[in-house]
Amino acid sequence: MLKFPVINRLFAIAFIALIILDTIWDISWWIYLLTVAIWATFTIIGSFHIRWNYHLPALHLNKESQKNWVAITFDDGPHPDFTPKILKLLEKYNAKASFFCVGQRVGLYGGIAKDIIESGHTIGNHTYTHSNKFGFFGTQKVILELQKTNTTIKEVTGLDPKLFRPAFGVTNPNINRAIKKTELQTIGWSIRSLDTTKRSKKAILERITSNLKKGDIILLHDSSEKTVEVLEQLLLFLQHNKMQSVSVDQLLDIEAYA
Ligand SMILES: [Zn+2]
Repeated sequence: MLKFPVINRLFAIAFIALIILDTIWDISWWIYLLTVAIWATFTIIGSFHIRWNYHLPALHLNKESQKNWVAITFDDGPHPDFTPKILKLLEKYNAKASFFCVGQRVGLYGGIAKDIIESGHTIGNHTYTHSNKFGFFGTQKVILELQKTNTTIKEVTGLDPKLFRPAFGVTNPNINRAIKKTELQTIGWSIRSLDTTKRSKKAILERITSNLKKGDIILLHDSSEKTVEVLEQLLLFLQHNKMQSVSVDQLLDIEAYA
């Protein structure tokens, strides 16, 4: 798969070649512009496709999983109404999950974050503010977001998360530098439920279960009643198909905390 540094080198070579050719033939300015536009297109599309691993290495599934395991993950919590309902359902169906929490929300709902850990689930870092502008933050600002979240989670739970999921799944060179500095492991997903869209519960469940296989990581959000209802159906589906939801660190056989 193409990676950002490879694309940069290829386009640098193409650009130098154009400059050299320009001394022989008169290369039109729009050829230069087109080259830059193609480079920018790759870079921008790569930022929104975490599964390409274009800007940074993220883990999206465990293809080697020997057991019938999947990992259900929830982003954007904790939420005072929905996270407790989700915890109850997970307990009812004897399932484990991972919660990529927003640092600011852990500060507000520390008791729920503690409940997540005490119930045997995993907590990861999902930025401090979940700002709409996260993709435009400089490296230092991203580092601060990540460090503040980890500090807050540690204050509440005593644990220092090693797993990170970027807000909106966006990646770029600044985020790559920040995760290297903070030594976090980025976690993506192999199944995006789209549970935050207007899709019906049936359509969301169908989207998750139609191609579900062992080793998959499922992206959900503990931020709506709809997701709570989809979750119960999903847990019934797993039970029926003799599949088990485990924490993402168990699925990937990695450490969740420093
Ligand atoms: Zn999010």
